[in-house]
Amino acid sequence: MKTGSSEKRQVWYVVIALLLSIVVGLALENHQDIALYFKPLGTIYINLIKMVMVPLVFSSLVLGVASMSDMRRVGKIGGLTVLIFLCTTAVAVVIGLVLSNIFKPGLGLAVTNLEYEAKEMPNVLDTITAIFPDNILNALLQGNMLQVIFIALIIGIALVKLAQGGKGASLRNVIEDVFNLMILITKWIMKLTPLGVIGLMIPTVAQNGISVILPLLKVILVFYLAVVIHNVVVYGLLLKTRTKFSVGEFLKAMAPAQLLAFVSCSSAAALPVSMQRTQEELGISKEVSSFVLPLGATINMDGNALYQGIVSLFVAQAFGISLTIPMQFVVVLTGTLASIGAAGVPGAGVIVLSTVLNSVGLPIEGVALIAGIDRILDMGRTFTNVTGDAVTACVVDRAVGKGK
Ligand code: ASP
Repeated sequence: MKTGSSEKRQVWYVVIALLLSIVVGLALENHQDIALYFKPLGTIYINLIKMVMVPLVFSSLVLGVASMSDMRRVGKIGGLTVLIFLCTTAVAVVIGLVLSNIFKPGLGLAVTNLEYEAKEMPNVLDTITAIFPDNILNALLQGNMLQVIFIALIIGIALVKLAQGGKGASLRNVIEDVFNLMILITKWIMKLTPLGVIGLMIPTVAQNGISVILPLLKVILVFYLAVVIHNVVVYGLLLKTRTKFSVGEFLKAMAPAQLLAFVSCSSAAALPVSMQRTQEELGISKEVSSFVLPLGATINMDGNALYQGIVSLFVAQAFGISLTIPMQFVVVLTGTLASIGAAGVPGAGVIVLSTVLNSVGLPIEGVALIAGIDRILDMGRTFTNVTGDAVTACVVDRAVGKGK
């Protein structure tokens, strides 16, 4: 009872911090130097969360796998997860393309003096190769999520085998203690969220004030319409038809992680909170949540895919180039695959965009058209990315037989 009311109070503090940050940020639109004084608060908060990420993901996944009696489950969980990730991502690109075809946000935009230098982006094969670490400690120290997942899976499976010979119990107990410790620390850090929100949002709002937003308002609105449609229709339907969670239950549990994704623009930063909320509030098993969520934070980017669909057509419209249906199909394909290679960090979607534009011969300079408002779109992208990961965890948990 007491925890419930203190949690409610926490949520209110965060909402108040968000509103306050918007007001203060707007007031500081012409005093960005002052707005930047708040930035360290946000950086410290994100650093603290990232600090628990590797030990939390690692210990949780090792324990999850070590508790499985049937190793075929690992394959089943993996296969289903990747299938849902790919399908929802492809649907997201299509939603983006359809809305952009209907609302044509790029028509009539003045394109002058654009310059953009494309950045290298890893292709899918590089991403797959990079899963296999050549050094366990390096992988953990660098926080390379795909490698951490790989190592944790192997160690978890090895622990199961050791346990059959009556060995490994003490290591397992240590890992369990590490997990409990990290969950507790994550909860402490979450109490600092209102301060983190202030530090992240005031500089963002000050830098992206009305004068920056207005010229590109149409594409922002179309993008957020896509975000709403994808979250309500695609995720709503998945929850309704594939799990027993109500949307209200899901949102109540996941709101802190979704909000953190929104203000931080980083799926990776939201990961520890997502893990804690899915496990403790939604009751998703460790084996599923600690596999699906870190994997999702790295490769599942539905928000990014929505953005690719909308922005590629937006650029075509702005440059007066028509994108035929087969070319839009290529956008779906590259948008889906390139989203896999994007990292869960702020601004990753922009790098993906140059790959997608390139694939259909659209000018790379188009990125510069949209780059100025990227933070605003990134907030919606990351919110959607993190929500998609959590919905997938719910669906997979039920499908493999344990979840609600
Ligand atoms: N910021 C996003 C994320 O962390 C990635 C993107 O830019 O689309 O999920």
